[in-house]
Amino acid sequence: MKTKWRDWAILALTRAEAPDRVAVGFWTALFAPPAAPTQRPRADGGATGTVEDKPRRSSTGLDYRLERARRKSIGLIITTDGLVIRAPKWTPLYEIDAAITERHAWILAALARQTARRSQLAAYRDGGHVLFRGNKLKVEVRQGLFDSIDLTEQHCIVTTIDGAFNAYAFDEELKRIARLELPEIARNMATDAGLPLASVTLSSARTMWGSCTSTGRVRLNFRLLQLAPELMRHVVAHELAHLVEFNHSRRFWAIVEGLDPNTKTHKRAIKAYAVLLEL
Ligand SMILES: [Zn+2]
Repeated sequence: MKTKWRDWAILALTRAEAPDRVAVGFWTALFAPPAAPTQRPRADGGATGTVEDKPRRSSTGLDYRLERARRKSIGLIITTDGLVIRAPKWTPLYEIDAAITERHAWILAALARQTARRSQLAAYRDGGHVLFRGNKLKVEVRQGLFDSIDLTEQHCIVTTIDGAFNAYAFDEELKRIARLELPEIARNMATDAGLPLASVTLSSARTMWGSCTSTGRVRLNFRLLQLAPELMRHVVAHELAHLVEFNHSRRFWAIVEGLDPNTKTHKRAIKAYAVLLEL
């Protein structure tokens, strides 16, 4: 019976696209506009124009800096210095203001994410903290003859030649542990529930905790290791449920709840950790 559902899902979803390109994912921000790039705006007066030094304030109270550029539409980006509006040379200010008002909620959310990301990165230092298996661990940075990381549920000891925290090495350590644990957890859960899991691999997508293709290939983000085990298992349950229900229907959620009885709580709790994916 389960296989039949899956076949039906494949048929329905592969008409327009190749099976491997079809994927449903556990997105961090469903229905939100795509995350804006976070690089510093160009202020060299080149083809993209010049960013004004003095910030302006929109009628909704948002500070922004204006960049007049050779372009046809108004663009909004969140940079390390905050909101920058790129607008064609002759666009009147009231039109720019209207564009800001229209996307007010999105801008606020993007700025909040930027702040959260910055504070998390600022904690990557001696005496700061990292999240591992849902525990907030105090970071201890030591200077040594070679780089190493000692990461357990109790501590995070980072040893580097220059005595500075190495975010890349920390991520590599997370990936190493994720490779050992995540595929096995997913395979065991799938086997216990009789779900047709074709393969499970790791991902480092910056917007998704996990995804599943119509051909039964599940991908799980290595940063799931930073979440509490029950939240990690919730994401795995979500992706495994897509093996038989390639949608977010009531039948889909019933399967998720079968795998994770605390689905409602976990689904809500996980939202607070979206910033981890953007590090
Ligand atoms: Zn989904």
